[in-house]
Amino acid sequence: MPTNANLKPNERELMKLIRFFSKRAVALAQTGELTEDHSQLTNACQNLETQLYMHAENRAAILDKRERLQRIIEENAQCPKCGKADMLKKNGVATNEHGWKSNTYRCRRCNTTFTWNRPNNPWHMAEFLEVYMKQLEENASKEVNEEVQAHIAQALANMQESLDRLRPVLQISDEEVAALEEKELEMDKMIHQFKNYLLIEKIKLDTWQDPK
Ligand SMILES: [Zn+2]
Repeated sequence: MPTNANLKPNERELMKLIRFFSKRAVALAQTGELTEDHSQLTNACQNLETQLYMHAENRAAILDKRERLQRIIEENAQCPKCGKADMLKKNGVATNEHGWKSNTYRCRRCNTTFTWNRPNNPWHMAEFLEVYMKQLEENASKEVNEEVQAHIAQALANMQESLDRLRPVLQISDEEVAALEEKELEMDKMIHQFKNYLLIEKIKLDTWQDPK
């Protein structure tokens, strides 16, 4: 069952006009006054209505997926003073010199605020991991202890694996959003045109009735 909840204001406005003409078509059909022109108009309205709801549903699904992706980073933030997490309250977002966004917290025990040292979203996390892995590789090349070297190599392999899993997911979402934006423009243009057309048709119906 289609729902208006996903519709944007311009889509809702058009739906109101569509409803007006659909109701009128029903009334005209009952009195046997439905013309070919009006039937065609009603068909066009129905097609657009279907298209509108499909588009709105698709948009909601893509944006919902995007939002869930945005939140996949599980933060294990700890207060830098007491080293605990139980009294932390998220109180904002900070952007660092790389443009990466991180959450800021307040520890109610220590009454201190701090910015967590990792990004809060997977896009910035992927960039963060790359930089972090480069540093780690550099450290590994200077490391003389073989055991430590093996340890770093394992950590690097794990991070590479996460990165390889994350990258395609992010790319698909980016592509989906780009395609959605393009479609959105197309739909907005069509809605605008059709709305104006229906408004004019509606005005035409508003003829002067001579009271005499
Ligand atoms: Zn604390």
